[in-house]
Amino acid sequence: VAARPLLQFDNTFVRDLPGLYEPWEAARAPAPRLLALNDGLAEELGADPAALRTGEGVAILAGNTVPEGASPVAQAYSGHQFGGFSPRLGDGRALLLGEVLDVRGHRRDLHFKGSGRTPFARGADGRAAVGPMLREYVVGEAMHALGIPTTRALAVVATGENVVRETVLPGAVLTRVAASHLRVGTFQYAALTRDPALVRRLADHAIARHHPAAAEAANPYLALFEHVTRAQADLIARWMLVGFIHGVMNTDNMTISGETIDYGPCAFMEAYDPATVFSSIDHGGRYAFGNQPSVAQWNLARFAETLLTLIDADQEAAIAAATGVLNAFTDRFDARFAEGMRAKIGLAGDPGDDGALIADLLALMVPQGVDFTSLFRALATTLRGGPSPARDLFADRAPFDAWSERWRAELAREGRDPAATAAAMDAVNPVYIPRNHLVEEALAAATAGDMAPFDRLVDVVTRPFEERDGLETYAEPAPDGFGTYVTYCGT
Ligand code: AMP
Ligand code: MG
Ligand code: MG
Repeated sequence: VAARPLLQFDNTFVRDLPGLYEPWEAARAPAPRLLALNDGLAEELGADPAALRTGEGVAILAGNTVPEGASPVAQAYSGHQFGGFSPRLGDGRALLLGEVLDVRGHRRDLHFKGSGRTPFARGADGRAAVGPMLREYVVGEAMHALGIPTTRALAVVATGENVVRETVLPGAVLTRVAASHLRVGTFQYAALTRDPALVRRLADHAIARHHPAAAEAANPYLALFEHVTRAQADLIARWMLVGFIHGVMNTDNMTISGETIDYGPCAFMEAYDPATVFSSIDHGGRYAFGNQPSVAQWNLARFAETLLTLIDADQEAAIAAATGVLNAFTDRFDARFAEGMRAKIGLAGDPGDDGALIADLLALMVPQGVDFTSLFRALATTLRGGPSPARDLFADRAPFDAWSERWRAELAREGRDPAATAAAMDAVNPVYIPRNHLVEEALAAATAGDMAPFDRLVDVVTRPFEERDGLETYAEPAPDGFGTYVTYCGT
């Protein structure tokens, strides 16, 4: 009897969409070493984690063995990068290995990053360093644990090869799992081919895979746009509720599925300020925290442009219909954000006055540099009696005290039990996020060969809502000595 394969592939992207990829194979990793394996995710995929740890498993995760049934390709896509259009980006250092049906029957892409140059590499080396691949792992797992749709890391394997950046760094391959790697940029690329049948096949593939209800609509392609718009409005609201800054919201980094993708220069905001930018290359603040909803909407307009000929032969009618959907993004986002913020401050009943309550709290936080994550946990603590840790987060307490009275009046109006309210708040407000200084510490240690801080950090951030003894330092913002945080793309 033949051994059951580690993973069972069924590759619809390759079957459905010739013209949108180049068949390709990963570069050989001379000395693969498994640095991190996501056991829970492996099990979701129907793979045995122990088997993935064997020589055969690691050879697959390093890209050295193409598993049976896989069909590796470099995917083609375009993208608006910081507003400027690049017609031909594509997987320059990545490959779609294939698709697997997980144990719940959901189709998942398996994708390598850092697996060598492809026909889309242009001048770049096709490599990735250990640090940034582990960063994608830990931040993605934190997002998943926060309940936010995201691609996830299955494994990071050190290749045994050096990559040259500003310094010489150990190289790595990340295996990433996603509902798919269809991006707004994939549609932009298809639209550029001037082959309407290709755009239609891509749209049909996306509908079948991510938004099957659109197939039943009177206008399936307009419905596709509507579903993606809603999924993105919901996603960006989730980011804004935890202080996540993506950092490089180019159209090639926005999925059709509604999952967060491409953890490059991303980071969590500490002191609340909508103007917060971490990325070294985002000079204009295009992708600043507070700009994320409007950038998402801008990207969705680029998506709509690729669908216009499918939406209606009459282009004016198509534009009018798409514009209506695009405008609804704002209402959807605002509703989701308001709902989420109300839950964060323990309000469950009908909105009443609390639109202003939320806006006023956020406005109070900016000049005083209050840590976004800490405040909401501290607010819940005040409902349990005793000293008020929330008030202590404000250097100037008077404006907070005034706000707090209004907040308590609103809670009283709703009349819920304070202990139950505090518990409900703790269920939506994380104690632990991947704090920037801790991520940097963990990646520096891993780069130097010590995985222990990384493993601890993954353990902490994958149980974000449950306060645990001995982890106090993981809940604190960076010490002053950490300075201004700067992140880098594509390293
Ligand atoms: P990203 O900033 O990671 O979203 O990547 C933008 C584009 O640059 C994509 O087409 C990537 O495949 C490509 N890219 C980034 N880094 C590399 C690299 N080291 N080698 C080849 N292509 C790269
Ligand atoms: Mg990208
Ligand atoms: Mg990237």
